[in-house]
Amino acid sequence: MFQFDNSYARLPDRFFASVYPEPVEGPKLLRFNQKLAAELGVEADLSDPDRLAAVLSGNVVPQGASPLAMAYAGHQFGNFVPQLGDGRAILIGEVMDRAGQRRDIQWKGAGPTPFSRRGDGRAALGPVIREYVVSEAMHALGIPATRALAAVSTGELVQREQEQQGAVFVRVAASHVRVGTFQFFAARGDTEGVRTLANYVIERHYPDLMGAQNPYLALLQAVADRQAELIARWLGVGFIHGVMNTDNMTISGETIDFGPCAFLDEYNPMKVFSSIDRQGRYAYRNQPGIGQWNIARLAEALVPLIDADEEKAVEAANAVLKAFGDTFQAHWIEVFRAKLGLVTARDGDGDLVQGLLSAMEENEADFTRTFRALCNAAEGHDDDLLACFADTAKLREWLPKWNERLAEEGRSPADVATEMRGVNPWLIARNHRIEEAIAAANYGDFSFFEKLVEALEKPFEERPEFADYAFSPTAEQKVARTFCGT
Ligand code: AMP
Ligand code: MG
Repeated sequence: MFQFDNSYARLPDRFFASVYPEPVEGPKLLRFNQKLAAELGVEADLSDPDRLAAVLSGNVVPQGASPLAMAYAGHQFGNFVPQLGDGRAILIGEVMDRAGQRRDIQWKGAGPTPFSRRGDGRAALGPVIREYVVSEAMHALGIPATRALAAVSTGELVQREQEQQGAVFVRVAASHVRVGTFQFFAARGDTEGVRTLANYVIERHYPDLMGAQNPYLALLQAVADRQAELIARWLGVGFIHGVMNTDNMTISGETIDFGPCAFLDEYNPMKVFSSIDRQGRYAYRNQPGIGQWNIARLAEALVPLIDADEEKAVEAANAVLKAFGDTFQAHWIEVFRAKLGLVTARDGDGDLVQGLLSAMEENEADFTRTFRALCNAAEGHDDDLLACFADTAKLREWLPKWNERLAEEGRSPADVATEMRGVNPWLIARNHRIEEAIAAANYGDFSFFEKLVEALEKPFEERPEFADYAFSPTAEQKVARTFCGT
């Protein structure tokens, strides 16, 4: 089924623990991502869903796999934990996809590993559905993210705050190496481990750096740049990751771990959904600062490789960290310029964007709907936009400035609007819709899950059959809190 080529398993023993999944009672295939399978060159016999479910749940280990749990550490809400590791995820193996890229395939929820600590190694159905929906939605929005190959129910119950149905999620990633993977070796004073890992990720994710004068400093820079861009793009769609611990930040620049994540409905830069984020550490607007903080932790791990002279190494790493803010800002303004339909850069564009955002904040305007309505406004149809604001005074002050700025670019309103509809999604994975899909799935009805996934495959297209998914939640539908549910 898979043509494996398992490079991580060839790394030194202390990088991982070899471990086989613990079989589950009654695996049932909930959803299989055929398009992604084709992209990966995975041959799946859909006429035999039971066999497919057996493999995708971990009951049958496919030929050529070298299952393992990766070792990693991490800062969780600012506190360092020297050993985390894959406590409920097992890397099945790696394949080379059709584009020649190496991709990890992982079972999440496949049973205990040496890194499970007190956890049961399992995943609950709800979080599996959330991760499936949101990771695929992110991908469809054009934002780098791990992918969903399959979801399987296990026929077993897992004990959480309440008893829940168990499931296994099959995740695909450019790799699962995290900032925390570097920290694992650094914390043990294992500089050779850090070096081996750095060489591995350079070859795998940043091959252009192999010839760089200082490849490890260049690696830090490259990872910082990708994270700065990624976070700018999250902000552009109102995404709140919710648990930006260093073990949840990839080296490849893909969004990973969709536990308590959520998209904004009304615009509020202080917004936090996660029930465990009591201080608002990972609030919407804190994300770039946290990104920088996490990159600083990566820098600390890399210091011994950057220069034999520690002072010089720290100085070089600090320069990269200092630039993070400007790099982020440059990506952020690029993202938001495009959202406003602008193609050139002018001084004052930042203020223009902020002007709209502060009017939105004051009015609790829906983030996604406002920007989508702005596309119509670019063609002179303001009604939808005005309807997003309780009090339109501030917006009415702002509109002429924006129109003037657009006029300076001299492009046809129809062209501007069309382009804007390609960057301002009509649909996002709204929290209340995810919760609805989870609630129905818990009663054995997967039709909401199916329809939601289908709707979010084309988030920029206005398809009448999915119109319900474009609405903001009503007061009763509103979801105040998200839970990791691990
Ligand atoms: P997460 O919050 O999913 O990023 O997980 C943080 C850490 O807790 C990782 O080391 C996970 O492997 C571990 N973990 C989370 N849930 C479980 C579980 N049910 N069983 C074992 N380990 C878990
Ligand atoms: Mg994690």
